[in-house]
Amino acid sequence: MPTTYTDLLASVKKRTKDVSLDELKRRLDAGEKLTVVDVREKEEFRTGYIPGAISIPRGFLEIQVEGKLADKSAPIVTVCAGGTRSALAAATLAELGYTNVETANPGMVRWKDLRYPMEQPAQLTDAQRDRYSRHILLPEVGEQGQAKLLQSKVLLLGAGGLGSPAALYLAAAGVGTLGIVDADVVDASNLQRQILHATSRVGTPKVESAAKAIADLNPDVKVVAHEDRMTSSNVERLFKDYDVVVDGTDNFPTRYLVNDASIFLGKPVVHGSIFRFDGQVTTFIPEKAAKRFGVEQSPCYRCLYPEPPPPHLAPSCQEAGVLGILCGIIGTLQATEAIKLLLGRGTTLGGRLLTYDSLKMKFRELKLRRDPNCPACGSSPTITSYIDYEGFCAIG
Ligand SMILES: [Zn+2]
Repeated sequence: MPTTYTDLLASVKKRTKDVSLDELKRRLDAGEKLTVVDVREKEEFRTGYIPGAISIPRGFLEIQVEGKLADKSAPIVTVCAGGTRSALAAATLAELGYTNVETANPGMVRWKDLRYPMEQPAQLTDAQRDRYSRHILLPEVGEQGQAKLLQSKVLLLGAGGLGSPAALYLAAAGVGTLGIVDADVVDASNLQRQILHATSRVGTPKVESAAKAIADLNPDVKVVAHEDRMTSSNVERLFKDYDVVVDGTDNFPTRYLVNDASIFLGKPVVHGSIFRFDGQVTTFIPEKAAKRFGVEQSPCYRCLYPEPPPPHLAPSCQEAGVLGILCGIIGTLQATEAIKLLLGRGTTLGGRLLTYDSLKMKFRELKLRRDPNCPACGSSPTITSYIDYEGFCAIG
């Protein structure tokens, strides 16, 4: 048994496998799947770290590592400032059953001198670290992801049944800018499902009511109110500043405008709709957005329905009933899709239509296919400008 620190370190060095900084950089550049665990203290980590590294200070290693790194056979490289703490950390990880651990030698001081790539951590305030702590604890979000959300802009089409839960969760999540397009006024009959609004705000514009609810929930969020109906003349102006569009509208003219703008401007659209007890969600990812978000291009709305239906086949405009809570489920799924896109995590609903039957309590999934002859996103598109379709419906 070692008796002094020098003995202990010598024994640890014998048991751990070193990787040089050149070698580590080469492997990271080659895209090798390995997790860099930075065991420096939080304050040291905040001065800059290897891109993609996760932070577990040495003193918290045993306590936190299993929560952050579930796969004990996945390759891990520990790193600290000079190579000592990281070697001790590597030995500890081996004792905890991690089988593929190396330690960077030396460490970040040298890495910095070599001017190898470093990432600066997000500058969150203490209040933000506290507010979003449950996000920050997720390695898939972390401080970087949270900072990304705070810089993100989502446009909500409609502050009604779907827009309400979506807006509340996006605001709670700290999406920094929420644009809301809605020309309506809060009515008492909305309150059974449109949870952004309140009895005290009946009669006020929905965008105003929404802004109030969001300001109360999370002052980090800037609400941009667009008290307007979307038409071919304003759709580009409305879309252009946003990263993701969450569509909760329920009429054909808007659906086609949204689709065409999404393709022209390269904006992903998370689409949701509801009817009585049933709902559905899918995400439309046009070619330009696919590149930007690092995901696959999906079919567009016109791949499925190239033109609006003839009036005699259009759904009735008679007010249909809807289970209020169904809006919460579908709108929340839409918010989840938006957050995933913004964080670049998980698999989107691109090319998949998720349907939900609340009476049977069943989710189903339908595959959606791109139409190579689609008039909007096909190889030779015929739709190159916006069309204002008549808002029509069959007499029901
Ligand atoms: Zn298409």
